[in-house]
Order: sequence, then C-alpha cells, then structure tokens
Amino acid sequence: MDEPTARNGFEIIEHETDLCVVGGGLSGLCAAVAAAREGIRVVLMQDRPVLGGNASSEIRMWVRGAKGRENRETGIISELEEENIYRNPELTYPVWDGVMWEKVAGEKNITLLLNCSCCGCSTTDGPDGHRIVSVTGWQLTTYTWHTVRAKFFADCSGDSVLAPVSGARWRAGREAGSEYGEAIGHAQADRKTMGMSCLIQARETDRPVKFIPPEWAYVYESDDDFNRAVAVADTGVPGTTSLNRPHRPGTDDTNYWWIELGGDRDSIRDTEEVRDELLRVAYGIWDHVKNRGDHGADNWELEWIGFLPGKRESRRYIGQYVMTENDIEAGGRFDDTVAFGGWPMDDHDPAGFRSFESEAPPSLLYPAPSPYGIPYRVLYGPDVANLFFAGRNVSVTHAALSSTRVMATCSLLGQALGTAAAMCVRENETPHGIYLHRIRELQDRLMDAGCFLPGFRRRIPQLSLGASLSLGRDDRELLFNGAERPDSAWTKNFVSLPVGGGITFDFGRPERLTELRIVFDPDFSRKSISPHKKMRLFAQRAMRGLDFCPVKVAATLVRTVDVEADGRTVFRTDSCHNSLLRVPLDLSASRLTVRFVSTWGAGEVRVFSCDVR
Ligand SMILES: Cc1cc2nc3c(=O)[nH]c(=O)nc-3n(C[C@H](O)[C@H](O)[C@H](O)COP(=O)(O)OP(=O)(O)OC[C@H]3O[C@@H](n4cnc5c(N)ncnc54)[C@H](O)[C@@H]3O)c2cc1C
Repeated sequence: MDEPTARNGFEIIEHETDLCVVGGGLSGLCAAVAAAREGIRVVLMQDRPVLGGNASSEIRMWVRGAKGRENRETGIISELEEENIYRNPELTYPVWDGVMWEKVAGEKNITLLLNCSCCGCSTTDGPDGHRIVSVTGWQLTTYTWHTVRAKFFADCSGDSVLAPVSGARWRAGREAGSEYGEAIGHAQADRKTMGMSCLIQARETDRPVKFIPPEWAYVYESDDDFNRAVAVADTGVPGTTSLNRPHRPGTDDTNYWWIELGGDRDSIRDTEEVRDELLRVAYGIWDHVKNRGDHGADNWELEWIGFLPGKRESRRYIGQYVMTENDIEAGGRFDDTVAFGGWPMDDHDPAGFRSFESEAPPSLLYPAPSPYGIPYRVLYGPDVANLFFAGRNVSVTHAALSSTRVMATCSLLGQALGTAAAMCVRENETPHGIYLHRIRELQDRLMDAGCFLPGFRRRIPQLSLGASLSLGRDDRELLFNGAERPDSAWTKNFVSLPVGGGITFDFGRPERLTELRIVFDPDFSRKSISPHKKMRLFAQRAMRGLDFCPVKVAATLVRTVDVEADGRTVFRTDSCHNSLLRVPLDLSASRLTVRFVSTWGAGEVRVFSCDVR
C-alpha cells in the first residue's frame, strides 16, 4: 500500500537518513555537525527559528563549562566560539545566531528542518530489539508534516520528547539520597526540578531613560522583597550559597538567572503558565532596578526580555549507566570517558525566585573536581536499540545534572554522540556495541577532532612518528606527547617558534599524505582577547555598559599558514582564526614543510601539536 502523502489535509514530506537529531540546542547542533563531518547523512529537527537552545537569541544564556582556565572545552564548541570572536567582536546575539546557523547550514550532509516540532514517533519490535522507525514533526512556517526515517535517532530536545513515546525509561525530579548514596540527595524522592527563567538584557546609554512598568508587573519596593536569603553557614545546610540575586546593571555577575520559577510544578506541562508568571516577575524586577532605589540605572534601557523560558531540567533518560554525585566527586575516571565537566554542582531551589519567602538561597553550590570525566554510557540506554540522547537529558541523577547541565559540557556530549552514531552506521554497530567493541576508537576520533578527554592522550599517526623533524628532541617530544593544552601546573606544553618559523617533516621517501593537523595555543586564559575580565568569560553578555570594548581574536592564534610539499605550495591561508587546523591533503611527498607566517599579535608561535597522516 502506498504511504499517505497528506495528513489532515496537510502535505507530508518523507526523509530517509542515517541519523535524525531532534533538538537544535548546542548539544543537538554539535551532535549533528560531528556526525555529518564523519560522513553520514543527518536530519536536524529544531522547533525554533534559530539554533542554540538556551544559548540562542531567544533565551540568551551564556555558554559556560568546566571551571579552571586550563579546562576550557575544545572541539566543535570552541570552533563556534572562536568563529564568534572573529566575526562578532561586539558579541551581539543576531550575529551569534548566524554563526551557529551557518555551522549547520554549511554541512552538506545535514538537512536542517527549522521551525519543525517533533510530535510523533513510530516504533517496532524486531530481532534487534525495540527500535524507533521514524519521527514526525510539524513545520510551522510551511504547514507541512515531515516524517524522518533513520537508522539512529538522537534526542537532544532537553525535554526528552522521545522518551514517553518510544518506551525508553526516564525520570523527572530529585532522587532520594539513599537511592545512589548521594549526600546532596533528599530524604525522599520527589518530582521537583530546577526551574525555568525568562532573562533580561539591558544596555547603558548616554542619557537618562525612563521605564514605565506594565500594570500587570509585580511590585518590589525594596531589595528585601526578593532578596532575603539567610547565609547558608547559619543554617547548617552543607554547600555554599550562590550569589545572592545581584541586579545592579553592568556588574560582572548580573544576568538575572535567578528570575526562576516552575521547579515545583511540571516543567513541561505547566510551561505556558510559568512563563506568564515569570514575565510579571521580570518586568517587576526591571521596574525595581529603574524606579525603586538607587541601582545606578538611570541611563540604562531595557533592550530585551525573553518570552521563551529557558529550561534547566525536565525529563532525564535512564541509560546504560546513571552518573551520580559520587562519580563526579571521585573525578569521573571512566574507561569510556567521552566528555568532561567541571562546573560545581549548582543545585537550584525548586522554589526558584520564591525561595526568598523561606529565606533560602536560590542555589546551593557543592564543589566538583574540574575536570571530571563523563562516560559514554550516559548517552544511550538499554530500552530502545537505536536511540541516543545528549544534553541536559542524559542519564545522570539530579545532583549530577546540576553540574553536567552547563552548555559547553552539553556540547561535548553532543559531539561524542554524533561521532558514535556515525561509527554505528559505518560499522553496523549498536550504541552499546560501540561501548563493548570500539570505545577507544571513539575516543581517538574525538581527540583527533580536538576534544580533550581527561586521563587520555591522543595517539600520534605512525607516519609522523617515523619522520625526521626540523626540531630538537625536547620539542619533538612536546609536539608528539598527545597533550594539547596546558596542564594544571601551567607548565610549558607547546613548541615555541619565531613568527615566520616552521616545521619540516622528512619521510625519507615519497609517502601518501592525507591530512595535516595542527593545534595552536588558543590562549585558554583569553587574556589577549579583551582587557576586561568579564568579556573573557562568556561568549555573550547580558548587560552592555558604555565601557564595553570589542573582543579580539586571541593573539596567540596563527593567522597565516603555508604548507609546502617537496618545495611546492599546496596550501595557504591568511585568515586562520581557529586553534585546530585540519588541512586535507591528497598527495605524495618526501618532505612537508609548515610555515607559520603571521600570528594575530603574539611575538612567538605556540604549537601544541602538529602531525601528518
Ligand atoms: C536561565 C538559565 C540559566 C542557565 N545558566 C547557564 C549558564 O550560565 N551557562 C551555561 O552554560 N548553562 C546554563 N544553563 C544551563 C543550560 O542552558 C542548559 O542545561 C543547556 O542549554 C542544555 O542544552 P541542551 O542542548 O540539552 O538543551 P537546550 O538548550 O534546551 O536545547 C534543546 C533544543 O531542543 C529544542 N526542542 C525541544 N523540543 C523539541 C521538539 N519536540 N522538536 C524539535 N526541537 C525541540 C528546543 O527548542 C531547544 O532549542 C542555564 C539554563 C537556564 C534555563
């Protein structure tokens, strides 16, 4: 029988692909791009007009990750951030949206379905177990149904939209401490979560600006009306309190994340009602900042308030392994590490903004080692044979989620998912089969793609190890030690060369060369991108004072690179602004010379890694 071409009178478009990613937040974006670069066909279904989820212009949260300047995330997320710094020195959201969009739109293996909300799923039971056959989404702009049949599916929707409809196990809320022996756990399990937020963005002008609040906004006459937390030390509760609702525009920490509600409601079903309440609070807070008390805000104008609440927590899958607070505290030393975290366990009170009524702080912070490893097994489960998940819905407890949820960490998880899914397609494996038979290959591929895995070192191609180099023994060792970032003691871990200097590989006879790979120093401390500490920390800013100064490409990155094979130029770029440069080659040569002709300002060239395969 022919497939129907319409449903309820609206056209159905059919897609056949290798991997269907649902959700285009940073985890889904990185999953799709990683898979496409590994050569498989991908459909990315995203229900919003822009990509990036909570990092997009619709929500405007800053991308954060592991603590510690030597622990910055690399891989696709740093490629995005480096592109943003290069193209968007003013750090505006519309340009950032474009940077994320073009990263996906430029991949020929990705079919991007924007404004397309996944709202259906068909499954089957066969010899390979319970599987998803297809998902269906409604595209708002074209009044069209899209049905995507795929070999593998990735739920990166944050809300685990595919969990209840595919038969995968999931849970929402906080575990009892006794379930996994977690100290942060509660006496009894409950359905409470961290809440959602509508953020505020404002900018300083050169003249006084009035704000007339809407009648429906709440009124906060004084700080005490919303800022009444008792110091945690006085309550006997373990953990330290997070910053206490800073709201003076222009200060480093003011980003209004604490306008948060809904943790004590159903974080999916009640979203619309919670949003209405959040708007009353957000406009009321801005009225407080402008009109009630001196907040140094006379010249500040409200640029934007988010009407789409950003969600912190809803459903989490129960996967092959459930990562807990204890795993984090033990440093996450997993044989199947495919990503890392390092944000503290940042457990928000479910009452959110209203926690002030019980004088509780909005969030408790429990230290986490940084970096800690995150295992591959949190990305798939035993119930649905062809389903992966990445982002804030991975298989972790509530306590562990309070750390793993930050977006740079979610991005690494997405990149791991996409790489694993491509291996599944190529090798005809299942997600669990990759764990059983090919985990080191997955780790090698991730490290080749620039990802850092704590406790692991990248393997250097044999061809490079066998070559004579135009470097001394110590430098050769640094170049080939498989480490591509500073260590925690910040000891020198790169080869220093003069600007204009280079490295020659002599293979002794003609060899077939397929790729040159170089890792430059991205200036993990970001000192050279901006004199202002606050500009260095974030990909974006919520508050823009008149003292804002544009950021710059890290001075340590190399701008002009020349590559010669047997004396013939085979590659040249004079706009390189990424720390990872992979140059595809398709040639035979006995000698290959890489010359570092200019930097973005530094007086030396720093190379963490340079090899040929
Ligand atoms: C207010 C707030 C403050 C935060 N502070 C920070 C911070 O400072 N730094 C930081 O790094 N992290 C922060 N976080 C956490 C972080 O933003 C999230 O944990 C992270 O965005 C999760 O990434 P994700 O890709 O899993 O989900 P999301 O970013 O939520 O992306 C999921 C995407 O899937 C789409 N989607 C959902 N359902 C469907 C469907 N049915 N069909 C198609 N698409 C769908 C959504 O539109 C969304 O774009 C904060 C979160 C909030 C809410």
